[in-house]
Amino acid sequence: MSINDTPRANRPHIAIFGRRNAGKSSLINAITGQEIALVSEQAGTTTDPVYKSMEILPLGPCILIDTAGIDDEGTLGQLRVKKTREVLEKSDLAILIIDPALGISNFEKDLLHSFDQQGVPVLAILNKIDLFTGEIVELEIELGLNLHPVSTLTGEGIEELKELIAQHTPSNYTQESIIGDLLSPGDLCLLVTPIDSAAPRGRLILPQVQTIRDILDHNAQALVVKETELPAALASLKQPPRLVITDSQAFKEVSALIDSSIPLTSFSILFARYKADLKSMMEGIKAVENLKPGDKVLIAEACTHHRQEDDIGTIKIPRLLEKQVGGKLDINWYSGSSYPEDLESYKLIVHCGACMLNRKQMLSRLRKAQEKNVPIVNYGVFLAYMNGILERTTAIFQ
Ligand code: SF4
Repeated sequence: MSINDTPRANRPHIAIFGRRNAGKSSLINAITGQEIALVSEQAGTTTDPVYKSMEILPLGPCILIDTAGIDDEGTLGQLRVKKTREVLEKSDLAILIIDPALGISNFEKDLLHSFDQQGVPVLAILNKIDLFTGEIVELEIELGLNLHPVSTLTGEGIEELKELIAQHTPSNYTQESIIGDLLSPGDLCLLVTPIDSAAPRGRLILPQVQTIRDILDHNAQALVVKETELPAALASLKQPPRLVITDSQAFKEVSALIDSSIPLTSFSILFARYKADLKSMMEGIKAVENLKPGDKVLIAEACTHHRQEDDIGTIKIPRLLEKQVGGKLDINWYSGSSYPEDLESYKLIVHCGACMLNRKQMLSRLRKAQEKNVPIVNYGVFLAYMNGILERTTAIFQ
């Protein structure tokens, strides 16, 4: 991917499943019109799926997930189930390829069960139709699904398949808008982005860039300032801004400077709505009141980045939490794609804004926490609450 491409987390994720010789790689080549060598960059991890950024028309930019290592020969039992679940947690659509020569086995039936459990829509494909002399309907009855016939060798059915992929990929794979749905054309948003030692050199971070783009897409205006320039920016405006959006770490300074009649929120709170479910996080935050010293708390960040001296996840949030409970907590940190299985042992999960996860994956983390009755909040909701401004910073969404 180049820097100008649609970010991964904003692309629909399409996972391709099938047995070893069913033709997964040739299907990927046929629908992308390219010879793509899908080789895992991580040597020795044969069950790791391979992710590739693609453009499939008419769908557009997407991520194809080749599950080559998770087939009936390559992976056994529990490991296959685990790997399949991990892929499905981020998949918006599953494509199941059947080879008529191999027929339908428990492997395909187990996969259909997993798709169903995870609520992932499926397109079932009968490959090698050029060699098939039987009745498709018999296979469809056995599978319990319609089969779309294709031949990756002759190209038969490939164009129709691309149309089907576009039709079956849920349009809500990402929440439509970060903030634009609450703005009118011409509205002015004042954005506060501290440029401190934690800021990457020479650029804004992804949630800030995406929010600006969303404001522009809705024909509203964005005025971006550092917190130190906020008083001057406010003084220069003839009208108060429609909305102020700040980095959550500057809540205290910004909320003191902004008149309470002006709506205020943060990038991270916007992402609680965009990537997850703001309402359930606002419920989850109440758990902070019941925490006791010694309780287990999970702090999760969806990417790995260089930790700063006063890092939000490892220093600031633990400090605020331990001050709140009046003692030491048992805090565990997870970052990147690693995430614990034993969620039930935690009393609270504090998650980052998840800009690098797609919405499906973040919702799946949320659902897992809810299944185990573990409250989950994100950094923005947590910091707004700790600053006593949660109601104020979420009022615009009511
Ligand atoms: S820690 Fe989370 S919110 Fe921050 S950049 Fe990484 S994925 Fe995005």
